[in-house]
Amino acid sequence: MSQDYPPGRGRVSLEAAGVPIEGVSIAGHESFYKLPGFRTLLEFGRAPEDVVGYATVCVSHGHLDHMAGLAHFASRRRLARLPSARVFVPADAAPHVAQWVGACEKLEGIAYEIEVVPVSPGDRISLRKDLELTVLPGRHTVPTVGYLFSEVRQKLLDELAGKDGQQIAALRASGAAVTRREEIPLLAYPGDCGEEIFEACPELFRARVLLLECSFLLPGDRDRAREYAHIHLDDILARADRFENEAVVLTHFSQRYSPDEIRRALRAIPEPLAARVVPFLP
Ligand SMILES: [Zn+2]
Ligand SMILES: [Zn+2]
Repeated sequence: MSQDYPPGRGRVSLEAAGVPIEGVSIAGHESFYKLPGFRTLLEFGRAPEDVVGYATVCVSHGHLDHMAGLAHFASRRRLARLPSARVFVPADAAPHVAQWVGACEKLEGIAYEIEVVPVSPGDRISLRKDLELTVLPGRHTVPTVGYLFSEVRQKLLDELAGKDGQQIAALRASGAAVTRREEIPLLAYPGDCGEEIFEACPELFRARVLLLECSFLLPGDRDRAREYAHIHLDDILARADRFENEAVVLTHFSQRYSPDEIRRALRAIPEPLAARVVPFLP
């Protein structure tokens, strides 16, 4: 498989602050991330066979390095008679995605089991009793949203801390609230983005894991980063003291850089941030 990618790039599998992430991310080439702990796929990339089983997919924007695999995914799921999959896409992109799916259905003479769900910043979707998806704003050259996965816990109210199980059960039976809902932001992902994202979406700084594109690294690529609305390493250095995350996974590096060049450039990141930065590289 890796001969399909530039030298030293390709499939990555890592665990960041307890969150396993597996996939490929090379700017302009292919991006997808399997999040097995959340049973969710972030982006399709070109949808290799091992992503087809994911019934929940979050797409940040319509650039085809993130989305080309949609048709393959839909077709393969239909062939395998898998149940309907939900595909979250930015609301402004949803009509085009639906047209594309419709065109493929006509080409193949079948109906896919795909639900294209338009989402906008602020939307909240319960993925499981203990897992909430929040749609974040995006900042890129086409309609884009980000995604935040939060763990949901029911915490006993502080004032009940000393009571025993029977007393709490009795209170609950009487209809009184005994717990409060607590959300722990586990992973934030803004999709492809320019540096404006940091003002638009300060939640990024507070998630346990931040999966952040850093397409460009070298001084000569600053203008390119601005023009295509991508993060440049300088944008991260300028805010190095603001990242509260346990892990910052930097990803979506341009294919113009070798893994060695990437690792060398990232040495510019100062401590204490540097110790928490993980490059999404094989
Ligand atoms: Zn991209
Ligand atoms: Zn893009």
